[in-house]
Amino acid sequence: MLTPEISRSHGARHVIVIGAGIVGAATAFFLSRAGAHVTVLDTSTPAAGASGASDGAVSVASKRPGPMMELACASRAIYRQLVQHGVLTDIYHARPTYLFARTDEEVAVIAQQGADLMELGERVLPLTHAQLMQRVPGLGRHVLAGMKVPDDGHALGYRVVDRLLQVANAPVRRFTPVQRLVVSGGRVVGVLTPDGPWVADAVVVAAGLGTAALVGLDNILIPRKGQLIVTDRASLSGAALPGPLMSAGYLAAKRRMVLSQSSASLVIDPLVTGQFLIGSSRETGFADRQTDIHTVSTLLREALAVVPALAQRRVIRTFAGIRIGTQDGLPIVGRHPTLPGLFIATGMEGDGICLAPVVGSAVADMVLGLPAKVDVSVLDPARFGDLPLSDPL
Ligand SMILES: Cc1cc2nc3c(=O)[nH]c(=O)nc-3n(C[C@H](O)[C@H](O)[C@H](O)COP(=O)(O)OP(=O)(O)OC[C@H]3O[C@@H](n4cnc5c(N)ncnc54)[C@H](O)[C@@H]3O)c2cc1C
Repeated sequence: MLTPEISRSHGARHVIVIGAGIVGAATAFFLSRAGAHVTVLDTSTPAAGASGASDGAVSVASKRPGPMMELACASRAIYRQLVQHGVLTDIYHARPTYLFARTDEEVAVIAQQGADLMELGERVLPLTHAQLMQRVPGLGRHVLAGMKVPDDGHALGYRVVDRLLQVANAPVRRFTPVQRLVVSGGRVVGVLTPDGPWVADAVVVAAGLGTAALVGLDNILIPRKGQLIVTDRASLSGAALPGPLMSAGYLAAKRRMVLSQSSASLVIDPLVTGQFLIGSSRETGFADRQTDIHTVSTLLREALAVVPALAQRRVIRTFAGIRIGTQDGLPIVGRHPTLPGLFIATGMEGDGICLAPVVGSAVADMVLGLPAKVDVSVLDPARFGDLPLSDPL
């Protein structure tokens, strides 16, 4: 039988990354680029979790002001560098985001978002209804106004995962669930799987939904299901619109604002295949991946009100993914507060495709003791206390 114990013969640090989603893949990429010897373990296969069941907006435009907006900006810059270095050349592409409003209250939300973006140095272009109509053919008359944020981007999660793992040259052990962390002398020294123990100098838990059980975050991580709809091709030569249409209701949800009129959290995303991706619901506490007629029809009704021309499209599939949120709305990234050798990277909710490069880079620096290129101290797990493990070995 293959012994799962990692060889220590190369003198490099040996790191186990639990989870082959986009956060685990980005962490493995930056670790191995810095010379570490990395093994990725996954219960299932790469991108089997949220990273393969999501949209791929790499969007600063949509972020809550403060650390999330700043980190998104830093992460988008890393995406661009990865393109320049040939790593994500055919995977990440630049495109604008269009924010839109249907009530006066929503117009105010967009104006506030624009002001916050400008404060960060982001370019924004307010648009009247008529100007929006010129850029977005088929737009409905209920849309009052909008804003173009020109410098955002898009990358499909499962394609990023595949490429980063390939370039990292980190072996991925599929169908290898980590059952427990192995603790010895007060520090984490490896993990236990059905194949036996794996020994490492450091362990990074980037296991999405599976993180809670492993590192004592049971009451802190919150699943939030999102259902999405895929249409047939509206265009046979690339994206049917220049960029995604993002509702003010979506921004309000991200900003944790409650609007007086119920306002759908809607994104109509033109994929490079010419199809539309329409979504998504925000179902707190749900961790199943079923889609249902009520939610799908509500989303389609909302989308038709914004772009009546969508009535000409056929629905070819629906799917759902699970975002992992946190009690305070910020990701959890950093050293475990009491167990040396253990690092956590999770809780990116609906922003993990965007944030994965900056998080992966920051975790790699922490694990290897390198100077931090980006300050992610606001995401420190210690803000939730000691996080005692429920069942270490
Ligand atoms: C509907 C929807 C739309 C979204 N749209 C966007 C978007 O437009 N832009 C954006 O930035 N983000 C978006 N997101 C969010 C983004 O998809 C997630 O934040 C991101 O994929 C999380 O990545 P992850 O690596 O942390 O988790 P995951 O992708 O879930 O990966 C975790 C991995 O860990 C493995 N695992 C779990 N437990 C164990 C264990 N015990 N042992 C070994 N392996 C284990 C799982 O099998 C899985 O492969 C969206 C999410 C959803 C659901």
